[in-house]
Amino acid sequence: MAANIIDGKAFAATVREKVAGHVARLKEEHGITPGLAVVLVGEDPASQVYVRSKGKQTVEVGMNSYEHKLDAATSEADLLAVVDQLNNDPNVHGILVQLPLPGHLNEDLIINSIAPEKDVDGFHISNVGLLGTGQKSMVPCTPLGCLMMLRDYHGSLSGMDAVVIGRSNIVGKPMAQLLLGDSCTVTIAHSRTKDLPEVVRRADIVVAAVGRPEMVPGDWIKEGATVIDVGINRIERDGKNKLVGDVDFASCAERAGAITPVPGGVGPMTIACLLANTVTACCRANGLAEPEGLTA
Ligand code: NAD
Repeated sequence: MAANIIDGKAFAATVREKVAGHVARLKEEHGITPGLAVVLVGEDPASQVYVRSKGKQTVEVGMNSYEHKLDAATSEADLLAVVDQLNNDPNVHGILVQLPLPGHLNEDLIINSIAPEKDVDGFHISNVGLLGTGQKSMVPCTPLGCLMMLRDYHGSLSGMDAVVIGRSNIVGKPMAQLLLGDSCTVTIAHSRTKDLPEVVRRADIVVAAVGRPEMVPGDWIKEGATVIDVGINRIERDGKNKLVGDVDFASCAERAGAITPVPGGVGPMTIACLLANTVTACCRANGLAEPEGLTA
């Protein structure tokens, strides 16, 4: 079987279009422009690229982008003061503190200082708790993007067996909660899971979020399963730098019914979902109806 390719790049473009439509309506009908503030501490090159890309896409959908670039030596007190100022700024509807933070800063403390309703990354402990109890929350962007693609491809996910490989707070755990919320039977596999190949072979849906290049071979995949590859791994092959996922695309695509490529799968959905979360946060802050299809 040759798998259908789930085109995350095209799907992300449709999400951005929907967001732009809602932003235009908010401006026209209510005089409100959603605003996203991104805080970057230090000069981590990958983080700089992400922040630039987030700012650019925020402006492209018609929202205001506020960038706060702070010195790597910024103290915890100074960073908390910036977050506090953004929490109290009515023009800012979403706040994102780019991770990782320099080692002297307590990430949990900083993230939990963001007002939960502006926490568009969905990492605040209140949002984690709300998601875990099936209540309205801000949902982490990468798993939200995966869920949107799965819903779009399958319609209902009810009763499907899903295996999430990886138990991080950013991807694995919230992904499992979202799949459970859509009535999947969910297994979370991780580095200590016994007989991972057999666990994965049971799955109708496999979400790989491990960070190990091409770790999942095709013979772990049940015939016809849907494979969502979250991994972004830079490797060198034949003297060239290459981006690969956590699954071996060629062999998995032979057995899967559908698969996301790397690049062009989950990756582009993450920023699209950040924009979606910001417009959702803006609507909630103003007591307006939330855009449909942009939340979990
Ligand atoms: P992480 O390192 O925090 O977590 C990795 C998880 O994989 C851990 O829970 C660990 O138990 C599990 N694991 C490690 N080795 C394993 C093994 N041999 N077998 C089974 N499980 C194993 O990583 P993360 O932040 O969740 O990211 C995972 C991957 O997703 C990375 O490649 C990262 O770059 C990528 N990522 C992509 C996006 C995106 O926008 N597409 C966003 C976030 C992360």
